Amino acid sequence: MYRNHTCGELNLSHTGLQVQLAGWIQRIRKLGGMTFIDIRDRYGITQLVVKEDSPAEVKKVAEGLGREFVLSVHGTVVERSSKNPKLPTGDIEIELSAIEILNTSEVPPFTLEEESDGGEELRARYRYLDLRRMPLQQAMRLRHTMAQEVRNYLSNCGFLEIETPFLIKSTPEGARDFVVPSRMHPGQFYALPQSPQTFKQLLMVGGFDKYFQIVRCFRDEDLRADRQPEFTQIDCEMSFVTQEDVLIQFEGLAHHLFAAVLNVDIPTPLPRLSYKKAMEQYGSDKPDTRFEMLLHDLTFLTRDTEFAVFRNAEYVGGLCVPGAASYTTRKQLDQLIEWVKRPQIGAAGLVHVRCTKTEEGVMGYKSSVDKFFDQQALSAWAELMGAGDGDLLLVMSGPREKTQEALGTLRLEMGDRLGLREPGTYAPLWVYDFPLLEWDEETERFYARHHPFTAPKPEDMEAFFSDDRHALMDVNANAYDFVINGTEVGGGSIRIHNPHIQERMFRVLGLTEEEVQTKFSFIIDAFRYGAPPHGGIAFGFDRWCALFGGSESIRDFIAFPKNNAGRDVMLDAPSGIDAAQKKELGL
Ligand code: ASP
Repeated sequence: MYRNHTCGELNLSHTGLQVQLAGWIQRIRKLGGMTFIDIRDRYGITQLVVKEDSPAEVKKVAEGLGREFVLSVHGTVVERSSKNPKLPTGDIEIELSAIEILNTSEVPPFTLEEESDGGEELRARYRYLDLRRMPLQQAMRLRHTMAQEVRNYLSNCGFLEIETPFLIKSTPEGARDFVVPSRMHPGQFYALPQSPQTFKQLLMVGGFDKYFQIVRCFRDEDLRADRQPEFTQIDCEMSFVTQEDVLIQFEGLAHHLFAAVLNVDIPTPLPRLSYKKAMEQYGSDKPDTRFEMLLHDLTFLTRDTEFAVFRNAEYVGGLCVPGAASYTTRKQLDQLIEWVKRPQIGAAGLVHVRCTKTEEGVMGYKSSVDKFFDQQALSAWAELMGAGDGDLLLVMSGPREKTQEALGTLRLEMGDRLGLREPGTYAPLWVYDFPLLEWDEETERFYARHHPFTAPKPEDMEAFFSDDRHALMDVNANAYDFVINGTEVGGGSIRIHNPHIQERMFRVLGLTEEEVQTKFSFIIDAFRYGAPPHGGIAFGFDRWCALFGGSESIRDFIAFPKNNAGRDVMLDAPSGIDAAQKKELGL
C-alpha cells in the first residue's frame, strides 16, 4: 500500500491519527534541527516534519531528499505551531515515522509551485511537470466537471452522444483542412474535420433528432494568439426545431453549467440582441454587455459642417466615457489618438470633447474640433449621448461597419481602463439575425458568413433567388451566436434541408455545377430523401472552460496544447518523416 489518505484532506479533526501519504516533494526547508517537507498530490499539499527525535532511519533518508522526489510516508497528524491559513491542511503537519523513496527526480527545470519561475517555452517542453502545478490541476478538473455536466444535462434532455469520423473528405468552414495521405490509395487524401457539421446534419436525416458530441475539430488557420489547430467543441443538432426552440434548449444548458460549475444563477431567458443592434450599440457582434458606454450615431448632426472629414463620412459615431474629462490629460488623449490609429484598429483619427461645468454652473465644451463646431453644436452631441459634467466624448468617422467596429474596440479599451469589465461577473446573451452572406471585394464573390449549410430566413427567400447583389447582401439567416463578456462562446443556425435551396446556396458562393456534384452530392442527395427541418449549435469547449476558470488563455485548459506557432514543443511536432515512410504514402 502506498497511501491511505490524500495530501489535501487532513485537518485538526484528524489529530493523533496514524496516516500514510504519497506524493511529490514541492519544497524542503531546514530550520534548526528540523526539516519541513511539503508533499503534493493532485488533492493538495501537506507539511511533513522530521524532528531531532525522529527515528534515525527517517533522519537519514530525509538528508538525501530533493525536489520532485516521489515519496510514500508514514506519520502522525499533529497540530502545527505556525499555521498556514491559506492551505486547507494548514493547521496540521505529519510527524514522520517512516519514509520510502518511490522514485528520485532530477532537479526540475523550473519551480512547480502556484506560480512558476519557468518561461512559457520551457514549461511547454516539460508539460508533464507543469501539469503537476495546482493551477493546472484545477484547470483540468474544471474541464472534467464541465464535460460531465454537459453530458448529464444533454442526456437528461434526451440527446444521444454519437461519434462521427475523423478521416473524412473536406467540409468547408472557412479555414483550411489538415489532410492525411492514404497509403492504400496512393495520391489520395483524407481530411480531418473542421467540425462534424455535415455528419450531424446527416444524423438528423438518419432520424436521431437530438445529437451531441464533445468532439475534436481541426483547422489549419493562420496563427493568432490563443488559437489551437485542434480544439474541442460541444457540437449539437436537433430536428423539428425553430430558432426559438434551439435558443431555449441551449440557454438551458448554459444555465445548468453556470449553476453546476460556478454556482452562479444566470437569469433566463437570456437577453437577445440582433446583429444590427449589436453593431449599432456596441460596435461588435460579440458585445461585452457587462457595462453600458454605448455607441451613439451622430451622423445626422454632422452633415452640414465645414469639417470635410465628418461631412463626407458615411457614419459619424461616438462614445461618452463617464467622468473621464477631468482626469484625462492632453498627453493621454494624444496617446489614445495614436492607439486608435494602430493597424489593428485602423481608425483615421479621433475627435474628443471634454464636457465640464463652468463656475457659474453652465456646461462648457472643449473639443479638438472647436474650429468647426461651436458650443451649441457640441451641446447637441452631448445631449444625444447623455453626457454630463466631467464626461469625455470620443468621436470617430468613416465607413459605417468599420467605424462602428473601431469604436467597439475603443469602448472595450475604455471599459478596461475604467475597471468596468469586472472579472467574476457574467453577462451572457444571444446575438441573432446575422446576414447570410458576406461580399468580398478582393475576390469579388460571396462567402457564407456562418457556413454554406445555414438557411436564409424564409421571408428573404425571394431575394436569395434573385441575381441582384445588393438584394443578396440583405438576406438574413436564422443564425445565432452565444456570447459571454465579449467572447463568442458558441454559434449555430437553422439549416437548409431542401436540396434546391442547398444547390442554390453553393451557386451563390460561386461553385460550378460540377464542383457541387463532386464535393457535396452526398448531402444534396441526402436532402432528397426526406430530410427533416433541423438546426443546431456548437460551443467552443476550451474557451468556455477558460472563461469559467477566469483565464484569458485556452491553453491552460488543454492538457497538451500547441504553442502560438502551432507546434508541440514537447514532441517537437510537426516534424519530417523518413524517406521510406514517404514512399509508402506515395508522397
Ligand atoms: N459547425 C459550426 C461551427 O463549427 C457550428 C454549427 O453551425 O453548429 O462553427
